[in-house]
Amino acid sequence: MTLPQYEILALRYATMQNRTKAENFLFPDDHHAVMPIDYYVWVIRGEGRLFVVDTGFGQKIASQRGRTLLRSPVESLASVGVNAAEVDDVILTHLHYDHAGCLDAFPKARFHLQDAEMAFATGRCMCHQVLRAPMELEDVLETVRQVYAGRVLFHDGSATLAPGISLHLVGGHSGGLQIVRVHTARGWVVLASDATHFWENIRRRQPFPLVVNVHKMAEGWRVCEELADGPDHVIPGHDPLVLTRFPAEAGGIEAVRLDMPPQF
Ligand SMILES: [Zn+2]
Ligand SMILES: [Zn+2]
Repeated sequence: MTLPQYEILALRYATMQNRTKAENFLFPDDHHAVMPIDYYVWVIRGEGRLFVVDTGFGQKIASQRGRTLLRSPVESLASVGVNAAEVDDVILTHLHYDHAGCLDAFPKARFHLQDAEMAFATGRCMCHQVLRAPMELEDVLETVRQVYAGRVLFHDGSATLAPGISLHLVGGHSGGLQIVRVHTARGWVVLASDATHFWENIRRRQPFPLVVNVHKMAEGWRVCEELADGPDHVIPGHDPLVLTRFPAEAGGIEAVRLDMPPQF
């Protein structure tokens, strides 16, 4: 059977320009060097299916955390013809504030989440400020509400959502971070989310400082590489280079096509 080939879009919705290398690497070579970070949500579509990967954050959280919201994730999605209110499937890679806000904008969706991430977000790890810091309690409570509404589909490890689309548990950065493998016209692409924030993290084997388990994070890099068809097939979760390296989606606002080869 030949596998379907899906389109994948990365949509930039927020940024933080005044950020330093010390905030992006556990062992930075230059602590004070400026290194901006971008925030994305992703869309996988084809074969009559559509998956939104992560839901971003809104203006209130952007203001509280000193991030620049360029447009709401819902507006980003609308620019590429995706109506959040009609989306059936949302994959939450993990429950950090920049990946799992705005759930109420997806009233019809079921949310794909790892058991380990929910346990992490609601268990003893949250007794520690350092692990709690990238969480928003309201987002976690909203996720619990979705569980009680019967709209969370839990996964425990790897899961196939459709032919050519699968989830893989890696953890490391959070308790139950999952990555998404997608079959495209250029082969297998991996949406790594925060398994690697920047290409530099995975390529130089330099951990991001926000980490629960460095060993699992390092193993996660290996898993990303095994599942992807090459270094440019691993898509980092926060790298500004993603927006410049891939071709723009016609009509989209800061939207690029990850299923097409990089431009340089
Ligand atoms: Zn994260
Ligand atoms: Zn993140």
